[in-house]
Amino acid sequence: MNRTHIVLVFLCCLLMHGCKTRSATEGNKINVVCTTTMIYDAIQQIFDTTLNVYALMKPGTDPHTYKASAGEVKLLKASDVILYNGLNLEGKIAQTLENLKKTNKSIAVTDFLNQDDLIFIDEKIPDPHVWFDIPLWQMAIQSVVLEIVSRYKNYFSVEQLDYISKNEENYLVELTEAHLEAIRMFEMIPQEKRILITAHDAFNYFGKAYNFQVLGLQGISTASEHGLKDIIDMINLIVENRIPAIFIESTIQEKSVKAVIEGCKSKGYSLKLGGVLYSDATGPKHLGHHTLAGAFRHNVHQIYNALKDE
Ligand SMILES: [Zn+2]
Repeated sequence: MNRTHIVLVFLCCLLMHGCKTRSATEGNKINVVCTTTMIYDAIQQIFDTTLNVYALMKPGTDPHTYKASAGEVKLLKASDVILYNGLNLEGKIAQTLENLKKTNKSIAVTDFLNQDDLIFIDEKIPDPHVWFDIPLWQMAIQSVVLEIVSRYKNYFSVEQLDYISKNEENYLVELTEAHLEAIRMFEMIPQEKRILITAHDAFNYFGKAYNFQVLGLQGISTASEHGLKDIIDMINLIVENRIPAIFIESTIQEKSVKAVIEGCKSKGYSLKLGGVLYSDATGPKHLGHHTLAGAFRHNVHQIYNALKDE
């Protein structure tokens, strides 16, 4: 074989490798990185082994303050698709995600939502905690699934598309059941008792869906500060309205919530700790709280038990 032949063989190999269509049944699967545990849960359940699905954040990670390590930035850059919440939820890595959008790699789940369905703080800042509006979240996830399937149409086999569609249906049904269960349970709590006080404003969509007045010690981002005055105002409001319970969030330190309980105690009012709610991340697998439906159900039961009539 002379030198020209060697070059030709090399070029053919290169072309064949470059043109090779990726397939979900072979070893060269599409790599998808999901930022939050809520997005990971949806994509993992629906696509299962047809994609390599990675979660950037873990249960208990606060997405507002999350910073990617060097290894995680590498994972983001090496991935084929990045799915993130958007609306500035992932505040510290928002710019990295936005930059990767230019290469058509990152997809914001909330980009598929109608602006009219979003809750705005001060009329201009959209609240990013959309997963607590179950029908809205279902719509967003359906759009994401459609986007991935159409982006990689030759990648999935007919059988795999059928499998994905069945998984998607199961995922949506489980969420609908959790949503209906919430409606049924909260019907038993009188309207005047539907006041939900948590560590930060993660539950505005939840409040809108189930008719709760929602108050957070911090704003919609945990990166914001809350001062002594906020705590004192909250204590006065709780005591005046005889609000029975306050909740801790799994992704936030509990010291401000504890300060409110202590403050109420000093005014002779016993404020109950309603337990831990999953706000910006799902929970551990051994409790069945690693899925959005599982975490959501846990929240509904905690709120119901703390606010129902004794
Ligand atoms: Zn939050």
